[in-house]
Amino acid sequence: MRGSVKLFNIFGISINIHITFLFLMVFFLSGGIKWLVLMIGVFCFVTLHEVCHSLVARHYGIEVREITLLPIGGIASMSSMPKKPIQEFFISIVGPLFNFAVIVIFYNPMKSLLGPEVLFYRPFSVATWPLTLAYLYWINLMLAAFNLIPAFPMDGGRVLRSLLAGRIGYGKATKFAVGLGHIFAIGFAYFGIVNFNIVLVAIAIFIYMAASNEGHQMDAKEALKKFKIGE
Ligand code: ZN
Repeated sequence: MRGSVKLFNIFGISINIHITFLFLMVFFLSGGIKWLVLMIGVFCFVTLHEVCHSLVARHYGIEVREITLLPIGGIASMSSMPKKPIQEFFISIVGPLFNFAVIVIFYNPMKSLLGPEVLFYRPFSVATWPLTLAYLYWINLMLAAFNLIPAFPMDGGRVLRSLLAGRIGYGKATKFAVGLGHIFAIGFAYFGIVNFNIVLVAIAIFIYMAASNEGHQMDAKEALKKFKIGE
């Protein structure tokens, strides 16, 4: 993706970071070293989430050349679309499942390391290192939940499309998930406006555009199919 810098390779996939994400890192560094460590931790979990999508895609013969990390999340660039809804289902669900797995696997270790007081009662704070670690742990639950929202461009939108495609067709299923993405984005923007939070409004605009983009991709694919039939 343009405006991104390559960091390293993992399983032969180039991990790139978008320049806007680097700016965000600088912004968080100004908040202190714990914020920066938290952001690097989030960066690692988002990368592994995308790697899970990529490895399942590769299992189905879809090549993934690069993963780009944006402030809103990661994008795995796939060489082609999944051929069957069941493939799209597994490629999409594995990302949120990874974050859920982190929550389940590290539940007991985190509880004994930090103690229930730190782990459960004062989340979302970087006042101390244990709280920062607890924050990082719970971010996995947020990543899983946010990505499972059944609307484009979230993973849940793809899961929904794959489940609906068999019943109402790929085109209608895509339009439905795009529509839900738009409704979600508008709701999100409203929430941002009433809370005077410009960042939420910006994210809402991004979600709206990304949802539209999914629809356009589908339109292009349909047009190509018609063209081939017309030949
Ligand atoms: Zn994902």
